[in-house]
Amino acid sequence: MPDVAEKYGYPHCTGHRSSLAGGLYNGCKRESAIKFHFSTSVASIESYEPKVVFTAKPRNGDAYKVEADLLLAADGIKSVTRTEMLAKLGTESEEEDTGQAAYRIMLNRCDMENDPELLELIDCNTVVRWIGARRHIIAYPVSDKTIYNLSTAQPDDNFAAATNATYTTKGAKAAMLKVFDDFCPLVQRMLDLVPDGEVCEWKLRTHKPLPTWTLGCVALLGDACHPTLPHLSQGAAMAIEDGAVLAECMSRVPAGADPAAIGKALKVYELLRRDHTYALVDLAAFSGRTLHLGEGKAKEERDRHFADHRNKGSVPDKWASPDVQKMIYSNDCVQQATENFDKLYAGLS
Ligand SMILES: Cc1cc2nc3c(=O)[nH]c(=O)nc-3n(C[C@H](O)[C@H](O)[C@H](O)COP(=O)(O)OP(=O)(O)OC[C@H]3O[C@@H](n4cnc5c(N)ncnc54)[C@H](O)[C@@H]3O)c2cc1C
Repeated sequence: MPDVAEKYGYPHCTGHRSSLAGGLYNGCKRESAIKFHFSTSVASIESYEPKVVFTAKPRNGDAYKVEADLLLAADGIKSVTRTEMLAKLGTESEEEDTGQAAYRIMLNRCDMENDPELLELIDCNTVVRWIGARRHIIAYPVSDKTIYNLSTAQPDDNFAAATNATYTTKGAKAAMLKVFDDFCPLVQRMLDLVPDGEVCEWKLRTHKPLPTWTLGCVALLGDACHPTLPHLSQGAAMAIEDGAVLAECMSRVPAGADPAAIGKALKVYELLRRDHTYALVDLAAFSGRTLHLGEGKAKEERDRHFADHRNKGSVPDKWASPDVQKMIYSNDCVQQATENFDKLYAGLS
């Protein structure tokens, strides 16, 4: 995406999720007010206001109660906080089965070096998507081109009978190779490099839009409230934006404010984020349906659309589509928060 820097001021980058998590962690370590409690989960929430009270459970220790002014729950797609919050409101968590699963693969540079075509792939600054009926693969170099990252999407045959709690499974290499056996030889050679016994398949689940992201002084963010299919590459990006908007909203609440003021500021955060994130979740699902078309008129039309609109207007792969890129990369969520906070806050009873 060579024109992204020119249009939006920053280049498009790919990265290893551990680099991102490490960067966030190191940033937090510089803040003396932040204290980490590793291997400790929120087990249940006893009170949402005026004080938040929840039970924390260390992996190898006894549960204990925590009292707080505010709880921001970024506890992912399996969010306990979401389940507790919805139960308190008398509704249930409604997960959506996408019918899709993903293999996540990382190839080491040293394993690709002896193959000139694979070396060229890891050395290029390009994200490549291979598309086939009901399946695709997206791939790009990360970690200074020492790792080639592949993420696939395919029908979730292996999880079809799984319980809702099952998200990952050790897969068989032979089964993975079979899923992509009609893809080009380059893809076959890459998949063949995956060590046997190291194939991990992820179930791709989403969630129906929630009636609320907040209750009292508790708010959800990230996958806890808007889990998405990965086809727009925006799940983590949206979670980070949520954090930025929450910071902006909470900075407007004066020290010592009452719980009602905290709850209202959290509601403003939800109002600022809800429509944009759910629109991207829908677009990611739509893009998946278009990418995965099988033979037929709709696929012919899609392929013509790809050929006619190369790099301009709208292309069927919404991640690469200039109109959707504009919607994503020109969206200044912090500016929206600063401009609209007062009006939205005043409008809440
Ligand atoms: C195949 C695939 C490819 C993807 N590619 C991209 C991409 O290219 N770009 C992108 O932006 N996004 C991508 N995503 C999406 C991205 O991974 C998620 O959207 C993102 O990780 C969500 O961040 P989160 O912090 O909300 O949740 P998570 O990353 O799931 O983090 C939740 C955390 O909460 C912890 N936790 C869970 N329960 C509790 C509890 N009860 N108490 C305390 N802690 C708890 C977990 O241990 C975990 O550390 C992809 C996802 C998949 C599956």
